[in-house]
Amino acid sequence: MPIEHTEAIVIRTVDFSETSLVLTLFTRDFGKVRGIAKGARQLKNSFDSSLDLLTRISVSLIRKNSDALDLLTEAKLIHRFRPGSAGIPGLYAGYYLAELLFVMTEEGDAMPELYDRAAAALARFEEGKQVEEQLILFPWELMTLSGERPSTGECVACGNPIPFEREIRRSRRIGFSMPDGGAVCADCQKTRGFRQLAAVDPRALRWLDRLGEGAPPALPEEAPLRREIQSLTDWMIDAKCGRVPKTRSQVRQALAEQAQNQNPRHEENQTD
Ligand SMILES: [Zn+2]
Repeated sequence: MPIEHTEAIVIRTVDFSETSLVLTLFTRDFGKVRGIAKGARQLKNSFDSSLDLLTRISVSLIRKNSDALDLLTEAKLIHRFRPGSAGIPGLYAGYYLAELLFVMTEEGDAMPELYDRAAAALARFEEGKQVEEQLILFPWELMTLSGERPSTGECVACGNPIPFEREIRRSRRIGFSMPDGGAVCADCQKTRGFRQLAAVDPRALRWLDRLGEGAPPALPEEAPLRREIQSLTDWMIDAKCGRVPKTRSQVRQALAEQAQNQNPRHEENQTD
């Protein structure tokens, strides 16, 4: 079988034997792949000491058919993930991103654009810039690129645009159902049934609707509004994963502690 070359982010690593590692990589050209790196735990090896969690590598591998593990033959380090001044929140944000890629993507489903977005988010985590915003942006990008993004700007039932400005003026909440695919206009709510219909602050939904390419807008200052944006994102992730990601509480705690240290009188009380 031919040897393939691609770029990858290490998203999981498990010791396999005295000498080998089993890795899950999110690759630029083949999506998520699982492979074995024989001899990777030996002092002298062909992997450039590059197979740590979240390192970006250039990798050579032999793809196997069916359920067998791919065989990694060589790797070279491109970039080691090292959150500097960002410290702990950036580090846990990286772990969370790795878990999202592990759980929310399919093996062998190439998503080069998502790969680039993941690399960009990791760079922001290292700098400690917009960590909270990136933690919201990335899952929405992932869902957009998988064609599974919930609708935020149009009603899922009739397709009409959600009148954000009008509902904000009238202080009226907007219906939202994750199982039924997103926002529901006031008219459709009266005439049809929706599963797990929540009433969402129109400003939260408008913030999510404006998430596009490039840097996300700063999160609103108002704590309840931030929490609502966060909860909608968590709801989407949990629905897609079928469970709560394990690393989420760690990253939330790290962010809360950082906020506490930066401003001891910070009134925000983060809860899951
Ligand atoms: Zn409608």
